[in-house]
Amino acid sequence: MRVCVIGTGYVGLVTGACLAYVGHDVICVDNNEEKVKLMKSGQSPIHEPGLPEVIAESIRQGKIEFTTDIAAGVQHGEILFIAVGTPSLPDGRSDMRYVEAVARSIGESLTEGYRVIVNKSTVPIGSGDWVRMIVLDGMAGKPNIDKIQFDVVSNPEFLREGVAVYDTFNPDRIVVGSGSDRALNLMQELYQPIINREFAENKNLPPVPVVVTDLNSAEMIKYAANAFLATKISFVNEVANICDRVGADVKEVAKGIGLDSRIGSKFLQAGIGWGGSCFGKDVSALIYTAEDYGYSTEILKACVRVNELQRTLVVEKLQQALKILKGKTIGLLGMTFKPDTDDMRDAPALTLIDQLSRLGARVKAYDPLVSQSGLRQGFSNVIVETDLERLADGCDAVVLVTDWQEFLSIDYAKMLTLMAHPVIVDARNFLDGKALKALGYQYIGIGR
Ligand code: NAD
Repeated sequence: MRVCVIGTGYVGLVTGACLAYVGHDVICVDNNEEKVKLMKSGQSPIHEPGLPEVIAESIRQGKIEFTTDIAAGVQHGEILFIAVGTPSLPDGRSDMRYVEAVARSIGESLTEGYRVIVNKSTVPIGSGDWVRMIVLDGMAGKPNIDKIQFDVVSNPEFLREGVAVYDTFNPDRIVVGSGSDRALNLMQELYQPIINREFAENKNLPPVPVVVTDLNSAEMIKYAANAFLATKISFVNEVANICDRVGADVKEVAKGIGLDSRIGSKFLQAGIGWGGSCFGKDVSALIYTAEDYGYSTEILKACVRVNELQRTLVVEKLQQALKILKGKTIGLLGMTFKPDTDDMRDAPALTLIDQLSRLGARVKAYDPLVSQSGLRQGFSNVIVETDLERLADGCDAVVLVTDWQEFLSIDYAKMLTLMAHPVIVDARNFLDGKALKALGYQYIGIGR
């Protein structure tokens, strides 16, 4: 099928590249010329394992093209994905200006025939009808308007950064919402190779479940999923804070409750709290949507509050260990909001850097990706070191912020010899606390 994906970020580029890889003819559109130039040369502008290979193969097969020309993309596609960002406005609502600009351009560029316009971006409930309205506005005055037809579909994305290609080929479910059977049928046809697990790791599993529903429910599913996951993390963090006080170990507690199939073990890791580009903005957008309709979301507000407190907990632990932080040097292991991504949006490390520098500490950081890329220039109040020895040198404490696998194999004995004080705060409960204590560290976990 002919597909156009508008917006080539973490979601759009992975979606476009994977749909091309399974055999569709895809044009990816972005208004960032630098990105388009890079993608045209076969490179990925984002770090995502497996993505360069999928792009390279799709280019080789002649299945994918990149352009800044949205009109060309719209004319090509029978299915048009909107996959631009929907960040938070300062008040917490969704900033819909990018979706609006794209919907208007689609309206202006539509030619005769039928198209499916797919909201892949996470958009507030009711946006499907709103997009329809903006597209119609964009079409106004076209001479052939009665020969242009389209339907809007909500097809929220659930991929996780760092494993986005895997998630696209191995989804837990696909959600499509629309009032149009014609559009829903085309979406089923589009996703058939993925539904049939033709590119999945385990091809023997039953087909991927497809949730076919109305527009509003599809949009709500995305928000409810993210709000639930964020709440699960805030819940276990609250349990961790009680564990800290009563002398229980939250890792043991999480194992004990996670084995209950009604609870499940995923998203039960206590730590510095959730971050990234989605949870914060989506939970807050849902809180505001509820308020627009006269409902106050008590659980979701508590979920956000617990997360804010969790981010300050590491500073409190450092203060308990070192007393005064003014003039102290703190080293951060990891900066990205999770491993295997270069995404720094709403990363807990940024809050930590702010808090520590406000208290007069000198902050250094090492991150396997940030330290080795051009990204390292873009931060204030932190010295981004290029290797672990420089990071450890003279530190009064080290904080593990991101659970990168390679931090498990650091030579912690050697690190100890470089540090001024042997304090390590494991803000992800990721390291072997017993082994570190045996080496002579003061090991401080979360809730244990
Ligand atoms: P992103 O910021 O990485 O990418 C957005 C892209 O859109 C950028 O490349 C930007 O240049 C481009 N763009 C903006 N305006 C444009 C325009 N007028 N024309 C063409 N291109 C334009 O965003 P993302 O992380 O991929 O997220 C996209 C959407 O998907 C958001 O609504 C987000 O909430 C949702 N989502 C994200 C994730 C994730 O893990 N990142 C997961 C699920 C859903």
